[in-house]
Amino acid sequence: MRLRTVCPQAPRVWTVELRRQSGELVLICQQCPQSGRLVAAEFARSAALAHLARHARGDLRASHLRTCQCHERGCRWHRRHRGCTGPIRLLLSCERGGRVWRLADACGACAAATAQAAVVPDTTLAAPLHPSAARPRSRRHSRGPGEHVRVREILGYLAVVLPADASAGTRLLALQCALRMNAYMRVELPTGMLRSLRIDAVDACHELERAQWLSIVDGPGAAGVTAELHDATLLAQAPARPDRRRAADWALRSGSPARRGAAEPLLRLLAIYLTAHSDPSSREGLSECDRIVRDCAMGDQVLHGALSRLTAAGTLEGWRICPNSEDLHWKLAPGQ
Ligand SMILES: [Zn+2]
Ligand SMILES: [Zn+2]
Ligand SMILES: [Zn+2]
Repeated sequence: MRLRTVCPQAPRVWTVELRRQSGELVLICQQCPQSGRLVAAEFARSAALAHLARHARGDLRASHLRTCQCHERGCRWHRRHRGCTGPIRLLLSCERGGRVWRLADACGACAAATAQAAVVPDTTLAAPLHPSAARPRSRRHSRGPGEHVRVREILGYLAVVLPADASAGTRLLALQCALRMNAYMRVELPTGMLRSLRIDAVDACHELERAQWLSIVDGPGAAGVTAELHDATLLAQAPARPDRRRAADWALRSGSPARRGAAEPLLRLLAIYLTAHSDPSSREGLSECDRIVRDCAMGDQVLHGALSRLTAAGTLEGWRICPNSEDLHWKLAPGQ
């Protein structure tokens, strides 16, 4: 006999659909019965993400109360795997070519097996926005995951939320914005930093504006660029901004052309990607080719050439693609 009744909590899974109805686009949330509202096509993606982020932020729960929602639904969202394992994280996935977006608690195994999906970086949604005055002045210890993991997660996340045709330069800029934004979703990128990114900053800013991912407040000009991000899901990152900034600096160094001998944004993006996915001690890494191609937004044919060029440039010591599994194995050159 139960002594008390526990009120069952709604599952942490939210789905929105962008449905065409008599020539117009309507945003429909499965969890909000009267949610159908018209959205302009160019705002649809960001409206869907903002709606999901609001749900997640409105349902904060201790980690021991969170379960793999994919498992609860019979693991229908991905190919087969050996069973649920790993920590429960918030997974954003996109289906039917961007018409359906889902945010759900999922275990590490399900997250890794789901196509067109990314773990929302560093889900400490409960973290309050705190004014800087309230912050203790003592020397702080770094919190949350290390640089590798932060950069890896943001790259995977951007691969899902940015339009598939966003250029490598745009992705490099978005990575810096996501890691350097403050608690009010504002980011200031000084000229020196933009220069070390070696991208066409004007083009990249416009591309991110067109994708409704940010609005430019000032610049790009002599003082750099100031922007306001619209991707509310990013607020789920740990508020440990110094650690995020360190990760942003690490990404800048990892993709720095002087060290890579590879000037093109695409090669630098791939260099950052491979470094972030390598084991720091063995310098080796393993990843599915499909995922690399998707996360770095490059064609299959481009990958082989890019890997050869990174090897020639001294970034990679070697690489091979397993013909059966289509997995890429690589080893970074010493000192990378
Ligand atoms: Zn809703
Ligand atoms: Zn599953
Ligand atoms: Zn699972």
